[in-house]
Amino acid sequence: MGRDATFENALSFASDLIRIPGLPGQEGDVARRVREEMVALGLDDVRVDEVGNVIGVARGRGEAPAALLNCHLDVVAEGAHDEWEVPPFSGAVQDGYLHGRGAMDIKGPLALQTYAAASMMGSAPGDVIVAHTVLEERGGLGMKLLLESGAVEPGVVVIGEATHGDVCIGHRGRAEVEVAIVGSAGHASVPDRARNALDLVGDVLAAIRDLAGHQESDPILGRSSLVATMIDVLPESRNVIPDSAVITIDWRILPGDDDATLIRRVRDAIEARLPELPDGLGYEVRMARELQKTYTGLVEDKNLLTPGFLMDEDHPMIVAVAEAVGRRDGAGPATIRPWQFATDGGWSCGVHGIPTVGFAPGEERYAHTNRERLDVEEARWGFERYPVLVEAAQRALAHL
Ligand SMILES: [Zn+2]
Repeated sequence: MGRDATFENALSFASDLIRIPGLPGQEGDVARRVREEMVALGLDDVRVDEVGNVIGVARGRGEAPAALLNCHLDVVAEGAHDEWEVPPFSGAVQDGYLHGRGAMDIKGPLALQTYAAASMMGSAPGDVIVAHTVLEERGGLGMKLLLESGAVEPGVVVIGEATHGDVCIGHRGRAEVEVAIVGSAGHASVPDRARNALDLVGDVLAAIRDLAGHQESDPILGRSSLVATMIDVLPESRNVIPDSAVITIDWRILPGDDDATLIRRVRDAIEARLPELPDGLGYEVRMARELQKTYTGLVEDKNLLTPGFLMDEDHPMIVAVAEAVGRRDGAGPATIRPWQFATDGGWSCGVHGIPTVGFAPGEERYAHTNRERLDVEEARWGFERYPVLVEAAQRALAHL
């Protein structure tokens, strides 16, 4: 007999997790603690994969498609400790809130999901897989590789990012695109002998503004938006004419936007401004990449694109989930809406086409702030709604 899957135990597990720091790429201690709890709860097949994701399974009573409950193991940096009313790693429960970095993004919901799965052992219509992933705050390498590995094959994914009790069905994605301008370097005292990469920056920035004025809009997700956020110049010397200037664009994209489309749009916008390039200057448009390392030692050169996704609000699984979960005040089905921020649902639904839905207690406005907190009574309600949600989602998918 494992540890009792009660809300009180889930809350104290959440407090424990908050006391263990773990930035992206440094989730090892958190992962060990989560694994230990899954074993104590009696989940099946508990394991840590090559990437460092922690996975366990609550076997269901039947053959309905498996549900995957997902949160992430990493948190964002806490900043200056004296700016926090309650210390960031205290995990204190006071004034009706669980406090600290990760309270709602996402160690509180992670504990609730894990315990809710344990409470469903032998009773859910199908298996309930719990997989908590690494590096979500850096674009979701953990979830990306988990799904590519084929180690789990869920029929539905439930993301535990804050929805304040609503049912979330998608979000815009995010991409970083770079315009790399190339010239030839030289001594600043003899400008005629060089081709200054900075000479193209003005036109490229103007082209980016042109493009920003012509972005597509989705009736639910809103407009995609882009803006230049950074210019890196090489060589980095004040008395050298640079041969390289790289402009970074932050682009909030819509589902379906991919590398080739984004790159083409930027090229077209630059060509419209600059049909002829000045002699000796060139440019390349490319996706930004970053070398990411997991705490298990895996290194990946990752394209910094996190896809968006959008489920049809009339999808039978979404309708069933919203009706089953209901509003907290009891007045009808849960509100269906998108998130403002990006989640690992971009990988599960946007890339792999797996029906995905978001549900968790917690208010978006506290995420990534030094006032991060989770309302305990809302968390208790959310914990009780999870089994109902899973049952409804699995039954809806079994009948499709
Ligand atoms: Zn999160």
